[in-house]
Amino acid sequence: MSRDARSTSWKKLVYDVVNTLPRTFELKEVLARKDFFSRHYPENRFVDAKIRQSLQVLRDQRVLRFLGNGRYERLEVRPAFSPLIDPNTAMRFTSRTQASRVMLETWAELNLYCVNCAADELRRLTANTPVADFACDSCDDRFQIKSKDGRFTAKIVGAAYLPTIEAIRRGRLPEYVLVEYDPRFATVVFVDAIPGRLITPERVTPRKPLAATARRAGWQGCTIDVSELPRVRLVEPAGLERADVRKRWQAIAKPT
Ligand SMILES: [Zn+2]
Repeated sequence: MSRDARSTSWKKLVYDVVNTLPRTFELKEVLARKDFFSRHYPENRFVDAKIRQSLQVLRDQRVLRFLGNGRYERLEVRPAFSPLIDPNTAMRFTSRTQASRVMLETWAELNLYCVNCAADELRRLTANTPVADFACDSCDDRFQIKSKDGRFTAKIVGAAYLPTIEAIRRGRLPEYVLVEYDPRFATVVFVDAIPGRLITPERVTPRKPLAATARRAGWQGCTIDVSELPRVRLVEPAGLERADVRKRWQAIAKPT
């Protein structure tokens, strides 16, 4: 067998293993399958080196992307999306408001993508970042997630009043992502995004400062009127294809 034919075979073997892994995976997950490779090449003492070399070939052929720190992304796989919210992510919170905020932020971290560029992921900002919740590392756009158990009305609850006005003045108000969910089914139903630059100071109304007895006494929030602003829909309940429903029905209802 020629050298070239061999390296093609290695590439094929590595490709087969990669195809069994999640969309993003680590080098060690491929190396862990050493037995599989050794079965095909029992005489080869350089299995690790061959795996790394084949991964580089797959990267050059744009099958994979290196993410750094031994992490890879499969470019042939479409990003996975799930409307399901995982209640386990918020078990340590006793306040319902805080628990649902954490659940929805975790959902957003796993499922939201940048609408402004081709990035498939957003990075969750630290909890004390004023005004924004998520950032895109590719285009530096920022996002604030608002979630509601049910439908939003014309007004959404904003962050602190003065920082919001200040962000508008500096042209740094984040994009608003409105997540409507149904807690009975732990499911996200509709998600819309509104460009932050369309929100003018006139749309922002200060709320009454928190009472002196409150933990954050004197803190002043705001509401933002988003009525009649253009928006894009990111998520809506998926309609099921009638033909597929009939096919699945046939599969279970037909006598065998
Ligand atoms: Zn982006």
